[in-house]
Amino acid sequence: MFFLTSQEFERFTSLQAIAGMVYDFLGPAHIVQLHLPADLSIAAKILTQAANKSGALTLPMGLVGDLDESLDSLLQKRDVPGKFRQVSALFAAPGYLWALASRSLQRGLRPEDFGIKNISSGGAKVSRDLRALVTKAWGVTLREGYSMAEMVSTGAYSCDEGNLHFLEYSGILEVLDPVTREPVKFGDVGVAVFTSFYPDRELMPILRYWTRDLVRLIACPCGQITVAIEEVIGRTDHMMIVGGQNFYPQPIGDVLTAFSELVQPPRFHIRNEERTTMLHTIVEIECATTLTEAARAELVEKIRLALPFSGAMHIQLGVVQCEIHLMSPGSIAAPFRYKLQGPTPV
Ligand SMILES: [Zn+2]
Repeated sequence: MFFLTSQEFERFTSLQAIAGMVYDFLGPAHIVQLHLPADLSIAAKILTQAANKSGALTLPMGLVGDLDESLDSLLQKRDVPGKFRQVSALFAAPGYLWALASRSLQRGLRPEDFGIKNISSGGAKVSRDLRALVTKAWGVTLREGYSMAEMVSTGAYSCDEGNLHFLEYSGILEVLDPVTREPVKFGDVGVAVFTSFYPDRELMPILRYWTRDLVRLIACPCGQITVAIEEVIGRTDHMMIVGGQNFYPQPIGDVLTAFSELVQPPRFHIRNEERTTMLHTIVEIECATTLTEAARAELVEKIRLALPFSGAMHIQLGVVQCEIHLMSPGSIAAPFRYKLQGPTPV
């Protein structure tokens, strides 16, 4: 639970309105359609209020009505003096955007049927597939925001290169090692840790807030000089230490998608076992079909070389033994299910 004063809320909505006018997704000429649960999400409340403050015509659709009604609203020509003729800015969570864009293509609608100039999303990871789908449906680059209810006064927004730039006037972003809690080297994966600046948070200051989100700092070629991260890579909850280094399930799953002999999307378990002589990292991977002994041995070797931790120092030195077990079809009920890129269509 977190708390804001009315003054803080007013300040955030004003800053958001100014940012929206600077980047031209809010302002008196805009018609803004929002598909956000305003009664559940503080971000939705702030965005709706910011749109109103900027002088935009705001259409808070919430999450009611069907996809066709939402599309019809985007298509509708409105004659409001001083405003664009159609909805010019769209805000929705990734899952909703995925469904709306798919429905638009299904109906045979083209980007030129709409007047959309800006589409923004947030609240969950935006995949490359979703970006491509949005561009195909509406001819617009999807912009992404990254923040959390707890640190609502600060966050990061995507630039034209698709990287997330941190709003440095609002706080400090540190990227720390999940185990030692020391700053990681530039470009290494670490946990995003936020601190808010005064006077953004007077009632509940955020001091070194440990998000558990894994990010990597990058040098963005777009020209903005603020601190940039590539994307939110994953969560520390799913981290594994293999051969003295930290690994995460998503990149391991990415590698396994290349093997047609395995169940797709991949299902696997990884665990460390301390045995008498050394530490063993056991990787259990589910096969799609039954294989001969020779085929199994060959597949194990190929997977061994492909796995991200094959080059980990302790494995190279032979002080940690990596064992790969191919499991029979249907044998793994994985607590972590690797997901193919892109949200499931609603
Ligand atoms: Zn950039």
